[in-house]
Amino acid sequence: MAVELTCIVCPRGCHLHVDDDLNVTGNSCPRGAVYGKQEVSNPVRTLTSTVVVEGSGHLWVCPVKTDVAIPKGKLFDAMKEVNAVKAKVPVHIGDVLLKGIAGTEANLIATREILD
Ligand code: SF4
Repeated sequence: MAVELTCIVCPRGCHLHVDDDLNVTGNSCPRGAVYGKQEVSNPVRTLTSTVVVEGSGHLWVCPVKTDVAIPKGKLFDAMKEVNAVKAKVPVHIGDVLLKGIAGTEANLIATREILD
């Protein structure tokens, strides 16, 4: 069944039409075609959240994200694992706080430096 969706790759928000053979129309650039095919066949999202930080005198949480997008169907399991993570200072941008999140190849990485 054909699908209508809005491309979220950039702010232009092109209206995409994806047919049964995964042909994409309505996209203004090639990235929209890639997004449209993936969104219909295996939608993925980058997970962003925060984790608890232990040992900091001024920050209780550290912002984190997955280094690659994960299947939407894994987001709930991934958040359970994220909620159990406790980082310890010092935390550097890019530190891997959890590997292979929810059985995927994605790692959870810190996006803020917390030194004390
Ligand atoms: S198709 Fe291209 S131009 Fe249109 S919203 Fe997607 S990324 Fe942006």
